[in-house]
Amino acid sequence: MEAAEHITKAQLIEWLKLTAKAMTKHEDVLTKLDAAIGDADHGINMVRGFSKVMKVLPEFENEDIGSILKKTGMALLSSIGGVSGPLYGTFYLKGALAASGKDSLSLNDLEEVLRRGVEGILLRGRTEFEDKTMYDVWKPVLDTFAGVVHSGGTLEFALDSAVEAAEKGMKATIPLEAKKGRASYLGKRSIGHQDPGATSSYYIVKALRDSVCG
Ligand code: ADP
Ligand code: MG
Repeated sequence: MEAAEHITKAQLIEWLKLTAKAMTKHEDVLTKLDAAIGDADHGINMVRGFSKVMKVLPEFENEDIGSILKKTGMALLSSIGGVSGPLYGTFYLKGALAASGKDSLSLNDLEEVLRRGVEGILLRGRTEFEDKTMYDVWKPVLDTFAGVVHSGGTLEFALDSAVEAAEKGMKATIPLEAKKGRASYLGKRSIGHQDPGATSSYYIVKALRDSVCG
């Protein structure tokens, strides 16, 4: 019971590996979504970014979780051409600040990693909720995860609830008009399409749940 209430370094590394696998598996889906309201490169960007993370991971996987997250962010920043590079890069770099020196994360630690990471996306993207971006997934994920943690819920329940919130947030981007990024150039024509970045964010949240809950 006790042990399950921490995320181990091995689970954290598994999160990154499952994320990389998910991006490869869903590359075409992400690229097709981006073809409809962007420039058809989101799947390519995510696969390139997480392939780089997988390539350099052996160099730092024995370091602390803060260092692993920081170097993950740097790998994404240096390898992704699109705006998702700086956004996801900042997510891991800022999240790393809440995990420096740690070899496992408590529920509160993980909440803080997510909080700082999501604040990073907000700051970098200058976006608001319902602008039809990845933040439409991360805001409800953070709120839901924190809500469960603060009411004394288990890690498993917090992560299951976060995945549900992520899926809902992702689907809720469909009827929205994009206010940020390339999709905003389309104005009302962006309505009716699911946001690619919200979709890759959903896969990241799902990979986190799967790395811990199996
Ligand atoms: P690019 O738009 O440069 O081609 P990608 O296709 O990789 O980059 O990523 C597009 C995704 O980035 C969008 O679907 C959206 O979720 C996200 N995005 C774009 N601009 C912003 C922003 N200002 N804030 C948050 N997310 C954004
Ligand atoms: Mg794009």
